[in-house]
Amino acid sequence: MSCEQLEHVDVLIVGAGLSGIGAAHHLRSDCPGKTWAILEGRGSIGGTWDLFRYPGIRSDSDMFTLGYSFRPWTESRSIADGSSILRYIRQTASEEGIDKQIRFNHRVVRAEWSTARARWTVTAQRSDTLETVRMSCGFLFVCGGYYRYDEGYTPDFPGMERFAGRIVHPQQWPEDLDYAGKRVVVIGSGATAVTLVPTLAQRAAHVTMLQRSPSYIVSLPAEDPIANAVRRVLPARAAYAVARWKSVLVTMLSFQLSRRRPGAMKALVRRGLERRLPSGYDIDTHFKPRYDPWDQRLCLVPDGDLFAAIGAGSASVVTDRIETFTETGLKLESGAELEADVIVTATGLNLLALGGLQFAVDGREIELPETMSYKGMMLGGVPNMAFALGYTNASWTLKCDLTCEYVCRLLNHMDEHGYVQCTPHNRDPSVAALPAIDFSSGYVLRAIDQFPKQGSRAPWRLYQNYPRDILGLRYGALEDGAMEFARAAPAVADEPELLAVSG
Ligand SMILES: Cc1cc2nc3c(=O)[nH]c(=O)nc-3n(C[C@H](O)[C@H](O)[C@H](O)COP(=O)(O)OP(=O)(O)OC[C@H]3O[C@@H](n4cnc5c(N)ncnc54)[C@H](O)[C@@H]3O)c2cc1C
Repeated sequence: MSCEQLEHVDVLIVGAGLSGIGAAHHLRSDCPGKTWAILEGRGSIGGTWDLFRYPGIRSDSDMFTLGYSFRPWTESRSIADGSSILRYIRQTASEEGIDKQIRFNHRVVRAEWSTARARWTVTAQRSDTLETVRMSCGFLFVCGGYYRYDEGYTPDFPGMERFAGRIVHPQQWPEDLDYAGKRVVVIGSGATAVTLVPTLAQRAAHVTMLQRSPSYIVSLPAEDPIANAVRRVLPARAAYAVARWKSVLVTMLSFQLSRRRPGAMKALVRRGLERRLPSGYDIDTHFKPRYDPWDQRLCLVPDGDLFAAIGAGSASVVTDRIETFTETGLKLESGAELEADVIVTATGLNLLALGGLQFAVDGREIELPETMSYKGMMLGGVPNMAFALGYTNASWTLKCDLTCEYVCRLLNHMDEHGYVQCTPHNRDPSVAALPAIDFSSGYVLRAIDQFPKQGSRAPWRLYQNYPRDILGLRYGALEDGAMEFARAAPAVADEPELLAVSG
């Protein structure tokens, strides 16, 4: 290790999205003595909610659970549009002065841990000045989301180059795209497609949702009547807590019912569809998936807007496969043709683990697929590093808030006992390795091999269960036998001079 002078912070957060701003809040309030900074690869705050700009962009879970535990969501809509969510994140950052500690345009590419020095050396590439920046930190908190920012996923459809109209991916929605009066085909059946279709249908000549196979789609009120009623009688914080717990319980109930009694859940979803779609609509072809509910993420539509657009004739669903793009649209395997002026490939994300960082521990390169995650937030054999990854069956922030609380407890515990290093054990041969996410969705299956594994039992198993995680992460023992703590190693001869940064 060279003796260069590095700027040092106690905790370095990677990413200024929903999770990174939440992490900074928790550090400020629970570990006030710690110095910290955020390195953000882009030029702005908000992550997902700043990147995605397609028409109608909104949450597909309620804001009482997607919002932070510490900051009530006070707007009337519980399924909120992207710009309101972005405003909420930005306000949190500015009111707490977090935004002043973000270094923008710093993409972190590598982190090297030295046990002798009990610190990470982190390398970032600046996208504005093209400089390489190095910093050191005692603890690294990766809040980099779960997918690639530079491009979404588009399958290699035959004949794409022949199409004379515009092809657009929702992750890079062109500001100048005028779809008014145009024929639009949206390829896909996930959350993005079901959001786009009714919104585009308000101005387009017609919108066709072209899907290979159907998804489960459930309508929810955009404004939660119970939450709004509670707000009228309770102060904001208390009302938020009630609305939050109500949402947690309803979501858990729906997930448990889907897993234990899939037939009953299918019947419930079906009844909702029959009520909202025109009579005689071919539900079996277009809305009856081949898998069980929650084998893939359930799609929510606020106030049945997708079904209303279908009922009004401004949108329709086609279930078929693409044979080829043509000059004027799409030729399908059934022989049918779809004419289009604009084709939107709502075909998903490219997943990316831990912000794409390359890790090394004492000179040994870490291969993420060979690691096992500890409590779904640290990695076996990787010291002083946590990551924020939310639930797949409930709102992201529920888990990330708990992860932040745990990290703060861990840091305070280490200070109290004079520890400088905490490392979840490396692979225990009695724990079987399982995929990190047990979803059958294409975007998960395409990338799951590049992610750390989860284990077959606690604390390596991801239970995706909020009440259980409250017990484990908020109240569970930190010294649990699977986490190893160490005190400072004897002084190292070539220890570099370190520059403290105020937090
Ligand atoms: C369209 C869409 C809708 C969604 N809707 C919901 C929903 O309704 N409910 C829900 O629970 N979840 C939803 N999600 C998941 C969503 O991503 C999370 O809810 C949440 O926004 C993630 O926040 P985050 O801060 O962890 O990650 P992100 O929002 O992805 O932010 C990560 C930040 O880290 C930065 N970053 C990444 N890598 C690096 C690096 N190496 N160096 C420096 N900076 C880096 C990025 O630039 C970004 O700013 C949705 C996702 C998408 C794409």
